[in-house]
Amino acid sequence: MSYQVLARKYRPQKFSEVIGQEHVTRTLKNAIEQGRTAHGYIFSGHRGIGKTTVARILAMALNCRTSEKPVSEPCGVCDSCTEIRAGNSVDVIEIDAATNRGIDEIRELREATRYRPARDRFKIYILDEAHQITDAAFNALLKTLEEPPGHVVFMLATTAPEDIPQTIRSRCQHFSFRAVKFDQIVAQLKDLCGRENIPADEDALAMLAEAGDGSVRDALSILDQAIASSEGRLNAESVRQLIGIAPAGVLEEIMGAVARSSSQEILQMVDRLLTEGQNPVHFARQLLRFLRNSIVAKVAG
Ligand SMILES: [Zn+2]
Repeated sequence: MSYQVLARKYRPQKFSEVIGQEHVTRTLKNAIEQGRTAHGYIFSGHRGIGKTTVARILAMALNCRTSEKPVSEPCGVCDSCTEIRAGNSVDVIEIDAATNRGIDEIRELREATRYRPARDRFKIYILDEAHQITDAAFNALLKTLEEPPGHVVFMLATTAPEDIPQTIRSRCQHFSFRAVKFDQIVAQLKDLCGRENIPADEDALAMLAEAGDGSVRDALSILDQAIASSEGRLNAESVRQLIGIAPAGVLEEIMGAVARSSSQEILQMVDRLLTEGQNPVHFARQLLRFLRNSIVAKVAG
């Protein structure tokens, strides 16, 4: 079997497996248990923190065939669940709004919503990157959202909810996803390394989590690279080289130069880091975290 990237292999299949978004998953489960599901949802937040994953799990929960009505946790093994997971369910349609954003596509979609689901309980449209939809197309969608057929559910995933017209937003339940906490990402990486039988040092995992910057998907994709490039154990040094993280001492040196107001020193140090192949974005994040930790340490004594 070909190598499957970790983010895909371990993509959560149940609400309980989603990390860092308990405020969303709990509310959705409660709503299903109380029979109070909506016809329009907006899932917003950074990239790679589980918006589309949660949309798919919700789709499974709504259409799962283990019960006469939606279930608060999908079974994962019935036809509906497995088809949704594989992305080939007839009644759950995923649309990349970045490329299908125009009035014609949305009109077509609106026409299709008139027909009953082919087999399952609901006809579900998951619109990824929904903020990319044009205003005219949103207008066309609005009519459907104002009087949605009982069998239709829209789920809009977006990194920029403010770009979705207010008229649409007010007709949807809006869930804001949070950046996943550093500790939770570290725990997740540790768990997956365990399952993959890959020995990993704690500080190596911490670096990977930091590089992910709140995104589980990004952290896992860097872990994929780290596994591919390492021989045996994942250690801090090999991860540092892979993602271009500066050694801790450099951060202190740079802040020392800032304290001395020495632009020249700072520029020289940054120049050296870039020449050594450090990633400037990672470095900026690292510096921020270092400053934050220093301030916390100072305030907390
Ligand atoms: Zn099922």
